[in-house]
Amino acid sequence: MHPAVYYQCQRCTNCCRWPGFVRLDDADITAIAAYLQMTEHDFIQQYTRLRPQRDGLALIDKGNGECIFLAGRDCAVQPVKPAQCSGFPNTWSFPGWRDVCEARPMQKG
Ligand code: SF4
Repeated sequence: MHPAVYYQCQRCTNCCRWPGFVRLDDADITAIAAYLQMTEHDFIQQYTRLRPQRDGLALIDKGNGECIFLAGRDCAVQPVKPAQCSGFPNTWSFPGWRDVCEARPMQKG
Protein backbone atom coordinates (compact mmCIF):
# COMPACT_ATOMS: atom_id res chain seq x y z
CA MET A 1 0.00 0.00 0.00
CA HIS A 2 1.33 3.44 -0.87
CA PRO A 3 0.18 6.27 1.37
CA ALA A 4 -0.68 9.50 -0.43
CA VAL A 5 1.63 11.52 1.78
CA TYR A 6 5.29 10.78 2.39
CA TYR A 7 6.89 12.28 5.48
CA GLN A 8 10.43 13.41 4.83
CA CYS A 9 12.81 13.07 7.77
CA GLN A 10 14.44 16.34 8.84
CA ARG A 11 17.25 14.56 10.74
CA CYS A 12 16.27 16.12 14.05
CA THR A 13 17.55 12.92 15.72
CA ASN A 14 14.67 12.81 18.19
CA CYS A 15 13.81 9.23 17.29
CA CYS A 16 17.46 8.27 17.81
CA ARG A 17 17.20 9.43 21.42
CA TRP A 18 13.99 7.82 22.59
CA PRO A 19 14.50 4.94 24.96
CA GLY A 20 13.26 1.73 23.41
CA PHE A 21 14.28 -1.13 21.22
CA VAL A 22 15.62 -0.86 17.69
CA ARG A 23 14.75 -4.24 16.24
CA LEU A 24 17.23 -5.90 13.92
CA ASP A 25 16.25 -8.46 11.35
CA ASP A 26 18.70 -10.74 9.56
CA ALA A 27 19.13 -8.34 6.65
CA ASP A 28 19.94 -5.47 9.05
CA ILE A 29 22.57 -7.56 10.80
CA THR A 30 24.20 -8.64 7.55
CA ALA A 31 24.27 -5.10 6.14
CA ILE A 32 25.49 -3.34 9.29
CA ALA A 33 28.18 -5.91 10.07
CA ALA A 34 29.50 -5.63 6.51
CA TYR A 35 29.43 -1.83 6.69
CA LEU A 36 31.42 -1.92 9.93
CA GLN A 37 33.75 -4.55 8.44
CA MET A 38 32.95 -6.91 11.29
CA THR A 39 31.85 -10.52 11.25
CA GLU A 40 28.16 -10.94 12.01
CA HIS A 41 29.15 -12.85 15.15
CA ASP A 42 31.30 -9.99 16.43
CA PHE A 43 28.67 -7.41 15.55
CA ILE A 44 26.02 -9.36 17.45
CA GLN A 45 28.31 -9.76 20.45
CA GLN A 46 29.31 -6.11 20.55
CA TYR A 47 26.21 -4.18 19.52
CA THR A 48 23.08 -6.22 20.18
CA ARG A 49 20.93 -7.54 22.99
CA LEU A 50 18.04 -9.91 23.20
CA ARG A 51 14.64 -8.25 22.99
CA PRO A 52 12.50 -8.50 26.14
CA GLN A 53 10.16 -11.00 24.48
CA ARG A 54 13.26 -13.05 23.56
CA ASP A 55 12.00 -13.11 19.98
CA GLY A 56 15.00 -11.52 18.34
CA LEU A 57 17.79 -8.99 18.64
CA ALA A 58 17.85 -5.23 19.15
CA LEU A 59 20.64 -2.68 19.21
CA ILE A 60 22.14 -1.82 22.55
CA ASP A 61 21.88 1.82 23.64
CA LYS A 62 24.24 4.19 25.36
CA GLY A 63 22.63 3.84 28.77
CA ASN A 64 20.91 7.22 28.51
CA GLY A 65 18.54 5.80 25.92
CA GLU A 66 20.35 7.19 22.89
CA CYS A 67 21.09 4.85 20.03
CA ILE A 68 24.58 3.35 20.23
CA PHE A 69 25.20 4.59 16.68
CA LEU A 70 24.15 8.20 17.21
CA ALA A 71 27.29 10.29 16.70
CA GLY A 72 26.56 13.94 17.41
CA ARG A 73 23.71 14.64 15.02
CA ASP A 74 24.69 11.88 12.61
CA CYS A 75 23.97 8.19 12.33
CA ALA A 76 27.21 6.20 12.20
CA VAL A 77 25.48 3.55 10.06
CA GLN A 78 23.28 5.89 8.00
CA PRO A 79 23.65 4.06 4.64
CA VAL A 80 22.63 0.74 6.22
CA LYS A 81 20.52 1.82 9.16
CA PRO A 82 17.92 -0.68 10.37
CA ALA A 83 14.60 -0.88 8.56
CA GLN A 84 12.85 0.23 11.75
CA CYS A 85 14.80 3.52 11.61
CA SER A 86 14.47 4.18 7.89
CA GLY A 87 10.78 3.30 7.98
CA PHE A 88 9.68 5.74 10.66
CA PRO A 89 7.30 7.56 10.44
CA ASN A 90 6.15 6.23 7.04
CA THR A 91 6.01 2.46 7.54
CA TRP A 92 5.14 2.69 11.22
CA SER A 93 4.39 5.34 13.83
CA PHE A 94 2.39 5.74 17.01
CA PRO A 95 -0.34 8.03 18.30
CA GLY A 96 1.05 11.53 18.84
CA TRP A 97 4.20 10.95 16.77
CA ARG A 98 3.90 14.32 15.06
CA ASP A 99 4.46 16.07 18.39
CA VAL A 100 7.91 14.53 18.69
CA CYS A 101 9.04 14.11 15.08
CA GLU A 102 9.86 16.96 12.70
CA ALA A 103 9.33 15.01 9.47
CA ARG A 104 7.47 17.12 6.89
CA PRO A 105 4.71 15.89 4.63
CA MET A 106 5.56 15.78 0.94
CA GLN A 107 2.88 15.28 -1.67
CA LYS A 108 3.61 12.34 -3.92
CA GLY A 109 3.22 12.33 -7.65
S1 SF4 B 1 12.13 12.16 14.81
FE1 SF4 B 1 11.36 12.30 12.70
S2 SF4 B 1 12.42 14.04 11.69
FE2 SF4 B 1 13.50 13.49 13.59
S3 SF4 B 1 15.15 12.09 12.91
FE3 SF4 B 1 13.40 10.81 13.53
S4 SF4 B 1 12.19 10.49 11.64
FE4 SF4 B 1 13.59 12.20 11.27
